Amino acid sequence: MFESVSAAPPDAILGLTDAYKADPNPDKINLGVGVYQDASGKTPVLGTVREAASRLAKDLASKSYLPITGSAEYGEAVQKLMFGVEDEIVRSRRAVTAHTPGGTGALRVTADFLKQNFEDATVWLSQPTWANHPAVFAAAGVPTKIYSYFDKAANGLAFDKMIADLKKIPSGDVVLLHGCCHNPTGIDPTPEQWKQIAETLRSMGAMPLIDFAYQGFGEGIQEDAAGLQAFCRPGEELIVCSSFSKNFGLYRERVGAATFVTADQDSALRVGSQVKRAIRSNYSNPPSHGAELVVTILTDHKLRQQWDGEVAEMRDRINGMRKLLVEKLAEHGAPGDHSFIQQQRGMFSFSGLTPEQVERLKHDYAIYIVGSGRINVAGITPQNVDRLAHSITDVLK
Ligand code: PMP
Repeated sequence: MFESVSAAPPDAILGLTDAYKADPNPDKINLGVGVYQDASGKTPVLGTVREAASRLAKDLASKSYLPITGSAEYGEAVQKLMFGVEDEIVRSRRAVTAHTPGGTGALRVTADFLKQNFEDATVWLSQPTWANHPAVFAAAGVPTKIYSYFDKAANGLAFDKMIADLKKIPSGDVVLLHGCCHNPTGIDPTPEQWKQIAETLRSMGAMPLIDFAYQGFGEGIQEDAAGLQAFCRPGEELIVCSSFSKNFGLYRERVGAATFVTADQDSALRVGSQVKRAIRSNYSNPPSHGAELVVTILTDHKLRQQWDGEVAEMRDRINGMRKLLVEKLAEHGAPGDHSFIQQQRGMFSFSGLTPEQVERLKHDYAIYIVGSGRINVAGITPQNVDRLAHSITDVLK
């Protein structure tokens, strides 16, 4: 049977990492996959994670199965982090959180849940969006459509077009929004725009689905939840898919969560039972270690404070590199205005480089960037920024 299987195309972003690894050039630069790197180009294990891991190694009582939706403690910690410790959603127990393998797992569980309970729902995705979004929903058999998001000419948010598109969405459909640090553009709505987006979805009867993969990488841990909180009105529903891959540096541990905010506790119980059904036939129950690390850090006052500092350090380093890249491009005489790079938020910058320029950077300069022109700013270091700016200037001229 295997004789007849044709080769699948390599994953565009992960395939780029393979090409980078195979490149013998000692000055090669990897700005592809969205992984944080420090100034020395390493993806560090956070100090809080080391401390939590050593506590767990001493104190962990069992490796037996977790419940299907993970531990209740984890669900509570995740909700408090998103909504605030004293928030009505947390207190009323009208939300149900499932611990999932990464943000991708959260999206897939959500997709399966939608397919099983809302057969006719379409999920609307921003244009552009994370490349895996359409693939995850397609794999679950959930149809997707797109709404306007990026204004190429202005290098900003096409807000009026976005609202006009959202106003065409039928009641009962689902609208996926990036909670902060939009991937790939780095462009987020302002607080006022978030309010208008929430109003629009409310008036259309559409369900907000917030993909929240970069909390803390934009303005701050609390500040970055402001967009999502625009949807949190008493009795109103939303779904949040969280990832702790980036802000805890727990990429390979696969820590995420799917949170379904329902109208009341009764609905939460029923929705929770359907979420369990979706998980049971998928991976049965989640892996525990990463979530235990997250709970240990979030529920210990000292570790929680230390983690705030670690997230701030990652955020500040990325923003520092944005500033330096803009300065270096000007220094090298790169044509055009690149100040937009400094306005974008999070790990990524939509550089405006064309696929041909991206190809030249790879071929002639050993600089690896995704074909869309998305740059992982966290791959820039004080050591490589000058060569990077020089090379970009060359291909732009
Ligand atoms: N959503 C977005 C927007 C992302 O960028 C990512 C990670 N690249 C994810 C979800 C999934 O994260 P995880 O690695 O935790 O599955």
